[in-house]
Amino acid sequence: MHTHAGEKLSKQEKQFRAHVTKLFTWLREAFHLTDWDLELHFCEPDEGAAADINVDSTYLTAVIRVGSAALRHNFEAKDSWQIMYCLTHEFCHILTDPLVQIAYNGVTKHGADFLRETAERQTTRIARILMGTIPQDVYEIQSY
Ligand SMILES: [Zn+2]
Repeated sequence: MHTHAGEKLSKQEKQFRAHVTKLFTWLREAFHLTDWDLELHFCEPDEGAAADINVDSTYLTAVIRVGSAALRHNFEAKDSWQIMYCLTHEFCHILTDPLVQIAYNGVTKHGADFLRETAERQTTRIARILMGTIPQDVYEIQSY
């Protein structure tokens, strides 16, 4: 888990981060990504997203950034499905990004926008299918 040095966290924030870290560890195993170097950063992603991911499929590294605003709201509302879905979606990008990166090299600017939208849609579909297979007790919010 990546935190900034000297950062003082509230009890709520610590609980939130412990929960997200637990899900992250579970997903890493479930996706069989043991040969990957995966990092979880707690900081605000770009463009107000709840989370995002930066994948390098050449060096097998990925950094998932989890913001505190949107997902913290889900955590406080005990919406455990939404938090797991969000993380599962980011993990699915690790599966789809290698093909997307190859395809990018062969398309125009317009094609790149279309490709990005299509990749996002297909990533969402895969994540939703997976969510139907993950037992709820895996991602239930417990007291930490
Ligand atoms: Zn996405």
